[in-house]
Amino acid sequence: MGAVPRQVAEKARVNKSPPKSRNAPVGRSPFAVEAAPLPREKFSDPKLTAKGEQRASVPLAKLETLWLNTGTLCNLACATCYIESSPTNDALVYLARDHAQHFLEEAGVFGTREIGFTGGEPFMNPDMLAMLGETLSRGFEALVLTNAMKPMRRHEAALLALRDKYGERLTLRVSLDHHSQPVHEAERGPRSWEPAMDGLRWLSLHGFSIAVAGRLLPEETEVAAREAYAILFELEKIAIDARDPAQLVIFPEMDEDKDIAEISTDCWKILGKSPADVMCNTSRMVVHHKGEFAPRVVACTLIPYAVDFDLGETLREASGPVALNHPHCARFCVLGGASCSA
Ligand code: SF4
Ligand code: SF4
Repeated sequence: MGAVPRQVAEKARVNKSPPKSRNAPVGRSPFAVEAAPLPREKFSDPKLTAKGEQRASVPLAKLETLWLNTGTLCNLACATCYIESSPTNDALVYLARDHAQHFLEEAGVFGTREIGFTGGEPFMNPDMLAMLGETLSRGFEALVLTNAMKPMRRHEAALLALRDKYGERLTLRVSLDHHSQPVHEAERGPRSWEPAMDGLRWLSLHGFSIAVAGRLLPEETEVAAREAYAILFELEKIAIDARDPAQLVIFPEMDEDKDIAEISTDCWKILGKSPADVMCNTSRMVVHHKGEFAPRVVACTLIPYAVDFDLGETLREASGPVALNHPHCARFCVLGGASCSA
């Protein structure tokens, strides 16, 4: 049970004050979604769409991946960070090792394969290395999403030790928003390119299992982007096959304020897709909201603040179906077809 009333915590969660950082990008994101504003009546009823059709929902088939959100604090303040991370936003506080341990135990019971770490920047959390070690020593695979900058580089010796002990069971996925420095820095801020490239080169040189997460400009095709990333990786001697979607993950863009079709139960057939294609069929995320006594479990990595996607205090409580009642469900998961996992 939270230490503060739920509505107070909810208010803190949806605080959308602009990120404060000396290095924040100044202009509009180069990846901004172009679409009309989202009509108010859409995504307002978990059971029915605005047209009165049965809204699609997704059961949890198996908890393959449990994400631990390490906290929203980040060394960057990107233009379109969906979780609103920045050097000052601690709406999701640092996840503590003791709390993580409790969820790792429960994930063991569920037969979970992989533990994902996401933030903010996970390596800013003072318990990160302890949580990572604990995860790997319990036999899970670990996937860490990082910007590979200074917070990660402080832990080089510990990371090398984990690589020696656990090899390919530890994967680091670095966000390199674009294959060109100007676009990457327009999104991530000035002087964010070279430290990220340097971190990526370090990981590659030392034989870590690595992946890159990239994005597409509105007019850019995926084929062209993969070709451009491939040239960059070859030039920089980064051991990633840019044509392999598991090694270079390219995500669809999200904007919860822009119009998008709702997903009804009929959509699966029309689109030739199934609930098994969607992340909440196989994953959940643990988040610790500021002002709350303990972490909670939410449906997925993309919707950490909405009360409707807060599923409970334990993995067991959170194993029910999820109604696809958010624009991200449509734009990112069903129509964009993305998965956050390795
Ligand atoms: S590095 Fe990632 S978590 Fe940090 S502000 Fe950018 S997108 Fe958000
Ligand atoms: S956004 Fe989250 S809840 Fe919605 S479909 Fe995707 S994974 Fe499921």
